[in-house]
Amino acid sequence: MRVVAILNQKGGVGKTTTAVNLGAALARRGRRVLLIDMDPQCNLTDHLGVDLDEDAPSVYDVLASGITLEETIRPTATEGLDVAPADEDLAGVEVEMAGWPGREALLRKAIHALPEGRYDWVIVDYPPSLGLLSLNAMAACPEIFITLQTEYFALRGLGQLARIVEMVRSGIHPELRIAGILPTLVSPVTNLAREVLEEVRAHFGDRVFTTRIRQNVRLAEAPGHQQHIFDYAPHSAGAHDYEALAEELLRSSGIPEPVEEDANGSSDRPDPHPTADAVVPPPGRPEGPVEGPPLPKEVEIKPLPDAPTNGKSGERPRPESPTS
Ligand code: ADP
Ligand code: MG
Repeated sequence: MRVVAILNQKGGVGKTTTAVNLGAALARRGRRVLLIDMDPQCNLTDHLGVDLDEDAPSVYDVLASGITLEETIRPTATEGLDVAPADEDLAGVEVEMAGWPGREALLRKAIHALPEGRYDWVIVDYPPSLGLLSLNAMAACPEIFITLQTEYFALRGLGQLARIVEMVRSGIHPELRIAGILPTLVSPVTNLAREVLEEVRAHFGDRVFTTRIRQNVRLAEAPGHQQHIFDYAPHSAGAHDYEALAEELLRSSGIPEPVEEDANGSSDRPDPHPTADAVVPPPGRPEGPVEGPPLPKEVEIKPLPDAPTNGKSGERPRPESPTS
């Protein structure tokens, strides 16, 4: 079971969108996925249309009352994709838990108590902060994915987050690592994304995913319809990009994926690198803990020679989900 937290102390950088659509992409490939909503704003819970009665068990009860995660789990419309929902009570948890012994390990214990073999992936979505809830994430999840909006100020936030991860790693969770940095909301018309990514790659190397998630209005519309992108707009660039991310992850985990071929012998897989300025993918992502050189407090962006930008929105047909 891979246990991944999606973190960034900044809001609006695609964390929830990534948790939902990566989870859906993995479930569509036959993986059993549990999404845990640790954000008091409940965006993930709402996005997937999970309706909570006032006294329905939520992740808050797991932390505060010690009920099991299993008691909270709700299925979604997609087979293999389950949600442990949040409710607004989670907002009080930072204050309530402040004096509790072992508070940073509560989620870790709850995830360890899941029945063995029930899930292949646990993906935890976080609020935009670096408080106790995020500490719970770093104690519970050995792998951290950071969604990174490719703009100048993102670099400073990334350096801050990397230093906190390092502190938690050396303090309470030696297996903790930043396993992936995912460029999100990438604009097709600016060179800035490329410049920012060059800098990030200089420090984090092949931990930066080759896949980029482009800006795509369908991704922004899908939550309003309480659907993930593969049900809402299966032929959109957003569906293409999250499909490519799932493929990149599964490829790097060493588990070969069956290639489905149609009658003409062509596979339904998307091109993994639809953008013109994509770099050559690394042969495989490291499995063990890999630490890059520390990120300086301020990262200087050096101008790069001009190169063609990815000026297409890449709408590409995909077959409908068999489960949709
Ligand atoms: P976070 O969880 O980091 O706060 P969200 O995933 O909620 O961020 O995204 C913030 C907003 O941007 C949401 O309205 C979401 O629908 C939208 N959004 C996320 N990713 C994309 C994208 N690639 N293209 C267009 N809109 C996006
Ligand atoms: Mg969110």
